[in-house]
Amino acid sequence: MEKEMYTFSDKGGESVTLRPEATSSIVRAYIEHKLYAWDPEVRLYFIGPMFRYERPQKGRLRQFHQINAEVFGVAHPMVDAEVMGILIHLLRSLGLQGYRLEINSLGCPRCRPPFRERLRSYLEEHLRELCPDCRRRAERNPLRVFDCKVEGCQEVILQAPLLEGFLCEECRAHFGEVKNYLEDLGIPYEVNPRMVRGLDY
Ligand SMILES: [Zn+2]
Ligand SMILES: [Zn+2]
Repeated sequence: MEKEMYTFSDKGGESVTLRPEATSSIVRAYIEHKLYAWDPEVRLYFIGPMFRYERPQKGRLRQFHQINAEVFGVAHPMVDAEVMGILIHLLRSLGLQGYRLEINSLGCPRCRPPFRERLRSYLEEHLRELCPDCRRRAERNPLRVFDCKVEGCQEVILQAPLLEGFLCEECRAHFGEVKNYLEDLGIPYEVNPRMVRGLDY
């Protein structure tokens, strides 16, 4: 993320960064204003401009709007399906076509560390095939390598171990339930075991 941050010095020489996304601000507001005391189950949404210093691509500018839906206080798989349902409802009501919903499970603090270790040692063996960014990520945040668009890294990733095989029983059951709810809601999806979106904080 650091290199995607929209950071510059203002006229007074202060370093300024424009917000890259809203989730962290929402979480901060939730904690700071003790919203958990207000209601054990909180649903929040947020719409606003965000900024990332990325290479502009077709349909992707450095300023873009993000719509967030966040649910706090419930870990039920139904909530995951609910949030995805909101997105699909939005896309449908805008009349958009040609999109697809890809899902994956990122596991939990119990099953992710053993996977991360396994992935790290796999990446160590392939360090020379990775781009300089991924060589750094391999040590610090190996899951981020899945996100890399560089061809050599993509080839390494194709053979990499997947979190799927490391999910604990609870995560496996949770993910299964999410899929069931999506099916109940009539929402088509594809499981993409290599989709690991995450920001480097
Ligand atoms: Zn787990
Ligand atoms: Zn890479």
